[in-house]
Amino acid sequence: MNKKIVYDVTKFTTTDYKDHLSCIVWFIGCNMHCSYCYNSDIVLSKKANHSFEEVIGFLKTRVNLLDAVVLSGGEATLHNLVLYCTLIKALGFKIKLDTNGLNTLLIKELVNKELVDYIALDFKATQQKFQQITKTSRYNDFFQTLEFLIMSNVDFEVRTTLHANLLNENDINIMMEKLKKVGYEGTFYIQNFLYTPDNLGKLKEPTALFDSTKLDNTLEIVFR
Ligand code: SF4
Repeated sequence: MNKKIVYDVTKFTTTDYKDHLSCIVWFIGCNMHCSYCYNSDIVLSKKANHSFEEVIGFLKTRVNLLDAVVLSGGEATLHNLVLYCTLIKALGFKIKLDTNGLNTLLIKELVNKELVDYIALDFKATQQKFQQITKTSRYNDFFQTLEFLIMSNVDFEVRTTLHANLLNENDINIMMEKLKKVGYEGTFYIQNFLYTPDNLGKLKEPTALFDSTKLDNTLEIVFR
């Protein structure tokens, strides 16, 4: 509990967890290395500033003022979330988890113990482009998590980050088809690449054009 594993805490947001007043806990470290990642300081674990004990201290001052805690990063599931979520729940907060889905076992445990209320799952790329974009070959781990969440009762969403030089319309159509085939019936959220000079892949703004009229209507898509 004393080890510094949290980069920062965003004390208040109305936008990250729909219909909830939340704070965001930014955990350090990640088991991916996505080209478009703009959180390089967090991912490369250079600057952990807080222990989870300090986070709990902060949350105690927000009981009855906030509804929920968002666990983000980096990749929050690299940390002891069973303990941390238990402590957060004991204070009465709901929990949203942002995850890349690689830690299937932990996510299963959190869901089965009802320690999370909402999950935002990143679908990074088609199987073919997964390694290129994330620098890991663990597509199957991501997919196991996806299948588990579809079978579970937990609320969740699937989202992807779009850089048009990395993913084209055909890739998005393949990803939607895959989601549909495995039984996902929710919205597919697409967020545009946010340029920062120190993004992990040193990417520039996309030069390719993305034509959303070429997308199939396999699922409802929301750009945000
Ligand atoms: S964008 Fe990729 S590298 Fe960055 S925090 Fe998310 S999963 Fe990790």
